Amino acid sequence: MNCLSKFGKLICLSIILNWAGMETLSAQAVKAAVLKKIDNSGLNANYVSNRAPLQKAYFVKLPIGSIKAGGWLKKALELQRDGLTGNLGEISIWLSKTNNAWLNKEGKGEYGWEELPYWLKGYANIGYMLGDKKIIAEAKFWIDAVLDNQRDNGDFGPAVEHKGNRDLWTNMPMLWCLQSYYEYCKDPRVIPFMTKYFKYQLSLPDNKLLEDYWENSRGGDNIISVYWLYNRTGDKFLLNLAAKLDKNTADWRQAKSLPNWHNVNIAQCFREPATFYLQSHNPKDIQATYNDFKLIRNIYGQVPGGMFGADENARKGYDDPRQAVETCGMVEQMTSDQMLLGITGDRFWAENCEDVAFNMFSAAFMPDYRSLRYLTAPNMVISDGKNHNPGIDNSGPFLMMNPFSSRCCQHNHAAGWVYYAENSWMVTPDNGLAAQLYTEGQVNAKVGNGTAISITETTRYPFQDQVRFTVNAAQAVSFPLYLRIPQWCKAASVTVNGVPVKANSATGDYIRLTKTWKNGDKVTLHLPMQLKVRQWAQNKNSVSVNYGPLTYSLKIDEKYIKEDSKKTAIGDSRWQAGADPNKWPSYEIHPASDWNYGLIVNEKNPERSFKVVHKAWPKDDNPFTNGGAPIQLIAKGKLIQGWKVDEHGLCSVLPQSPVKNNEPVKQLTLVPMGGARLRISAFPVAE
Ligand SMILES: [Zn+2]
Repeated sequence: MNCLSKFGKLICLSIILNWAGMETLSAQAVKAAVLKKIDNSGLNANYVSNRAPLQKAYFVKLPIGSIKAGGWLKKALELQRDGLTGNLGEISIWLSKTNNAWLNKEGKGEYGWEELPYWLKGYANIGYMLGDKKIIAEAKFWIDAVLDNQRDNGDFGPAVEHKGNRDLWTNMPMLWCLQSYYEYCKDPRVIPFMTKYFKYQLSLPDNKLLEDYWENSRGGDNIISVYWLYNRTGDKFLLNLAAKLDKNTADWRQAKSLPNWHNVNIAQCFREPATFYLQSHNPKDIQATYNDFKLIRNIYGQVPGGMFGADENARKGYDDPRQAVETCGMVEQMTSDQMLLGITGDRFWAENCEDVAFNMFSAAFMPDYRSLRYLTAPNMVISDGKNHNPGIDNSGPFLMMNPFSSRCCQHNHAAGWVYYAENSWMVTPDNGLAAQLYTEGQVNAKVGNGTAISITETTRYPFQDQVRFTVNAAQAVSFPLYLRIPQWCKAASVTVNGVPVKANSATGDYIRLTKTWKNGDKVTLHLPMQLKVRQWAQNKNSVSVNYGPLTYSLKIDEKYIKEDSKKTAIGDSRWQAGADPNKWPSYEIHPASDWNYGLIVNEKNPERSFKVVHKAWPKDDNPFTNGGAPIQLIAKGKLIQGWKVDEHGLCSVLPQSPVKNNEPVKQLTLVPMGGARLRISAFPVAE
């Protein structure tokens, strides 16, 4: 038996698994292949995907409601529900139902900007995923208001204007809310509403469209919604609108520069050219997105954690790992990664998404998700209410864990984990399913000839190297199941119903298992994790340590000091009269142990410098805390006396490694960076 593919570098091994007790030969046959890139020449027959002439997708996001999170990810969503996201309506002035421009047909009112849709796109989707009736009803209150208040000319939302031009930025995230809502319940009002709005947008002259800073940067988000609608209606005018939006959006195709250096804009807008590639079919558009990603990281992203230093804006000379990034920047980067995975088929984006999610995003919150901070950095030894400018770009208490503060992030953080869960599985052009972001949970999907099945996924990944899948199917159905192989994993292996599948995972990015799947079939994926030391030559030859997808930080004892949320909020914060700071306190986090260590690293074999210690799974199901860390690394290091907090109240810029040093050698404990709210994750090397 052989199998052929003209696409990409394909190692194809056909295996017939023969063992006692199987019923029929056809049910036993598993065809296994390892592919560099999946074949996107087909069109998924079971789900809406890109309609011609748009480029065909490699992976298609499943509609809202198809995926249920489990394990620690579900726990994070529940904590959000019970924490700030679920209760922000009683705190934030922008979610107040009095004098809110989102509730007014003319778009008039004191409170009306991005905050409501920023929050709603995560809040509503958490409700849909958890099946939470209260959240779903509250989300519908706002969505009904939007749908009921469309103006006669097709416009909607707060009537914000700049220099006589209508500013359309806030409507972009609201369109995303409507798309999720439509996928969830198929409300027939959504499609005509969006059609009418896009006709209005098309009627705006070029010199009045996307002229202001935010909307001009972020036009790519608008294009996503135009394509979403086009794929459902096929209205040709939508392609004209997408071309017009692309033309009037800031130029993210500059190769050697960016239109601006704002962290959220970069993380959100670098995908604009790749999005428009679906229509332009110009490979240079895809390349522009890769170039933007590399450009910002070459200068400001020579650090662990998958992001880059831009503690509002990236600034020349501020590229040390002590430079932070906004929580919004992380959410937008993860969202971009998920979309680019579908457009490019490149597993690289799944890996960046994991990197940001596991190593940066989780640490932006208090462990109970009742407060968050605006800025988080790879090296961060204090998180307080002081002003650290000009050490960081922003002036004010931007490092405080404060539920009344951080205006954009306070609302926009809501979507981080739920979008992650929604993109953990995708469907493929050949009517198969792809496991993209490994996490406990369940996917319900139509596969093959349209048969509905579900797959239960059991794992504690990224804290465990095994992922187990069980097929639940009322009737047997043939379809390909794709498993992403992480780049860091050198020897992934798979069993189907306990029998090893012969496939050399080192030769590609996805394992494809094709078979007539039947109820109870089991697939086990083993992703052995290795220690890896990365060197950051551009940042003083510092090093960081990975074990699988997790980066490790020095375990710094964290001393939490409770503060008044009203007194420690950033200047632009506004809250409702009844918001109670006693119920919603703020926290400073101070180091209660030395943090200024350099690592001793075995020069010939750096990975031998560390010992992996597995601990019990945390009882509260939240592995992103220092106390609950399921994995620790034991290391050796030396204090570096000269490396201290500087005049800006931040850990000073890294010393040049290797650092000469006569201090005694100490045993150090490293913990996952994503659970460390204070952290050193780019270490000097002690000689
Ligand atoms: Zn923000």
